[in-house]
Amino acid sequence: MKINENYKNLKESYLFSDIARKVNDYKAKNPDADVIRLGIGDVTLPLCKSAVDAMVKASLEMGKKETFRGYGDEQGYAFLREAIAGYYKKRGVELDLSEIFISDGAKSDLGNMLDLFGADNTALIPDPVYPVYVDTNVMAGRSISFLNANAENAFLPLPDENTRGDIVYICSPNNPTGAVYTRGGLKKWVDWANACDAVILFDAAYEAFIGDDSLPHSIYEIEGARTCAIEVCSLSKTAGFTGTRCGYTVVPETLVRGGRSLRKMWLRRQTTKFNGVPYIVQRGAEAVFTEAGLHEIKENIAYYKENARIIADALSRADVRFSGGVHSPYIWLKCPEGMTSWEYFDFLLKRANVVGTPGAGFGKNGEGYLRLTAFGDRGNVKEAVNRIMKLK
Ligand code: PLP
Repeated sequence: MKINENYKNLKESYLFSDIARKVNDYKAKNPDADVIRLGIGDVTLPLCKSAVDAMVKASLEMGKKETFRGYGDEQGYAFLREAIAGYYKKRGVELDLSEIFISDGAKSDLGNMLDLFGADNTALIPDPVYPVYVDTNVMAGRSISFLNANAENAFLPLPDENTRGDIVYICSPNNPTGAVYTRGGLKKWVDWANACDAVILFDAAYEAFIGDDSLPHSIYEIEGARTCAIEVCSLSKTAGFTGTRCGYTVVPETLVRGGRSLRKMWLRRQTTKFNGVPYIVQRGAEAVFTEAGLHEIKENIAYYKENARIIADALSRADVRFSGGVHSPYIWLKCPEGMTSWEYFDFLLKRANVVGTPGAGFGKNGEGYLRLTAFGDRGNVKEAVNRIMKLK
């Protein structure tokens, strides 16, 4: 038998295991060191009350014959798709319920979506990048062209007359750089994709961190996007669902490639290979989109954003160059004094007992950068910042 040889082309990812090993070695040698992790990408605040109450209620329903539910609706329960459609409507985006697919999170859909596209397409992927975009394409044997995201383009690459590709990934607000596209920037990508028959995979996992309504939360706020873009979103960072697992993907009815409706293809793919998100979780997600739920998650996001502000403020005072930290939980900073990502990682660990994520782990353009995250505890963030400031 033959295995999928493409897996041999995956680069081993040592990033998080290397970080863990270095931190553990350091702690073994310095047992009294109070190491603060500002590298974690996971949320730390608990689920909001509305979601928890809804899930408790739904659990009890599952234990009674009259209210028990088995397999759910194939695209996700209508009550949740209606809640999501209502959320988009507030920003002037009209979605049909048939265009919304409930998922167990953005990562699965980002990977599974590639089932719809031929292996001989080229994927256009920004560098630095959330590594899932790269690895899922390598697994499928697809060739990849990288888009340089760097300080010169404010980490927001745009297409030009030489840009070629079939599937382009746009993540805004961006992981790892924290950069956010303006409407004008996204419009350039939408026009490019419509002109050359490409498809945009728009990752909106951090949309809830946008605090300025002139910035687009959804690609569908941009004219023309309904004929070229798929949007993948998640309640992971919006509402702390990293462990609970729920997200959604929008595939517009008007998105047609090769004469076929991608929405219909995705429906077929999902009904064949996916059996839905638990009823209890979908009820929890529905509650997130109620007035009370949205208010509660806003408070959690405000907490993380205040952490980000504290970090960004300190970096500004220390004249460290960085992006992000305003409409994003990520701060992407230039390592001082020409240090490489790992040199600065070691420096911060040893001198301040603070752990970041070396930018080099997100692609070649990440070399010389470090990612800090705002998902931690306020006291720890303040303490970490004090320590970093004292290093100056
Ligand atoms: N997209 C981006 C840019 C992410 O950073 C993450 C998680 O860190 C995901 C998607 C995955 O989210 P989910 O938990 O919904 O699978």
